[in-house]
Amino acid sequence: MEGKLFIQGKWQGGDTFDVTNPADGSKVGTAVDAGSKETAEAVKAASEAFTSWSQKTAEERGKYLKKLQALMLEHRDELGELITKEMGKPLQEAKGEVEYAASFLEWFAEEGRRAYGDIIPSNARSKRFMVFKQPVGVVGAITPWNFPQAMVTRKVAPALAAGCTVVLKPAEDTPLSAVKFAELCEQAGLPAGVFNLVTGDAKGIGDELLNQEKVRKVTFTGSTAVGKHLMQGSAEHVKKISLELGGHAPVIVLNDADLDLAVAETAASKFRNAGQTCVCANRVYVQADVYEAFVEKFKEKAASMNVGDGMDTSNQLGPLINKEAYDKVDRHVKDAREQGAIVETGGEGFSKDGGWFYKPTVLSNVTHDMVMMEEETFGPVAPIQKVETVEEAVELANASRYGLAAYFFTENMKTGMHVAENLAFGIVGWNDGRPSAAEAPFGGMKESGLDREGGREGLEAFLETKYVSLGVK
Ligand code: ADP
Repeated sequence: MEGKLFIQGKWQGGDTFDVTNPADGSKVGTAVDAGSKETAEAVKAASEAFTSWSQKTAEERGKYLKKLQALMLEHRDELGELITKEMGKPLQEAKGEVEYAASFLEWFAEEGRRAYGDIIPSNARSKRFMVFKQPVGVVGAITPWNFPQAMVTRKVAPALAAGCTVVLKPAEDTPLSAVKFAELCEQAGLPAGVFNLVTGDAKGIGDELLNQEKVRKVTFTGSTAVGKHLMQGSAEHVKKISLELGGHAPVIVLNDADLDLAVAETAASKFRNAGQTCVCANRVYVQADVYEAFVEKFKEKAASMNVGDGMDTSNQLGPLINKEAYDKVDRHVKDAREQGAIVETGGEGFSKDGGWFYKPTVLSNVTHDMVMMEEETFGPVAPIQKVETVEEAVELANASRYGLAAYFFTENMKTGMHVAENLAFGIVGWNDGRPSAAEAPFGGMKESGLDREGGREGLEAFLETKYVSLGVK
């Protein structure tokens, strides 16, 4: 596949770079290696398209999004295969991602019609106070490789629904999924300039998005380090910014948990995408009475999972994105072992046909001094630590600079409400390891980010508040 840039409704070529399959190093295709010049063109196109797009009714914009949703579902298998080839996740998971991605288009197609303002009782008889909600302007969206389709729609759908126009820069590992999305935008008949795609040099494109005064909002999902850089860069023109950054999700399993449920949901959270999501379970705290039983059941579950090429449907885990990712996982596991962690299953990886794979790994006897209890591992490793009380579990869970997702398992309502209220995380799964949904606000506290995506809040992130005071005498 030859990916091109999509600017002002036209496809544009240029120098290219190779996109490779992390399972075997084979070439998936090429994408254009663009930089600041093309980004400036894309911003100009988005800026010119803004007036007419923002003046359409929300219902009109919603119709385009619904068309896009239908097209995405129609191409589910093809898009799923491309995701697996670009970033490795198992095909079933990839097709599931396409459905998840499409759900944002559907949700925001409707939610755009509910960008309600306010009428406020004024402080004088001669005045009327009104609040309008209006699109913020041109949006620069930067997305990561771990959800090549869903992270695109989670940003682009609410932006377009709100009446904004967009310049998207996808991750360099997965630009072709974004190119396919641009093709669907073209097929859906989106007016020229409303959605623009620029692939290539991350820093060149990113800095240009920051430099351009016309870009009024930057929305980013990725590492905390790059997020901080963008936040600083946004200061120059005081751009609005939404950030979905790293996470270090704790799982708490209490004595009165439904253990089978806790095992199944923790495994689903931990091993999805081979542990490469920002909401993947990163550390597991199990209360003493059920510690041994949980370790035993969880180990069995992990050991039953196969790792290999995601195109082979007998595999539940694909490769890691690259060798650096593998090295990080390996470093974390070695550090834990040196400090006394017990390898219950896994504990090693392998390289095959140029791909880097890590076995689903369960470590017990883990303590908070180990690197993986502080740093995001981004791999299929579940470290389990024994805790005595609910308070200890909550305290350890909160002892992180991150605050994205947390999970806990208890059948007791009172304990559950207490834990839910005291976890310093933006997303809490209570007896649920998979809380993400288009209808709900996704995002983190502390260094995990700013703002929310999805839900009502996801639209709000692309709206300005305008207060109008009308004199009536
Ligand atoms: P990760 O690769 O760990 O998910 P990154 O933050 O490196 O996290 O990547 C997320 C997105 O940010 C990608 O699209 C990447 O190309 C982009 N990116 C990386 N560096 C910069 C930068 N300096 N400015 C803007 N975007 C960047």
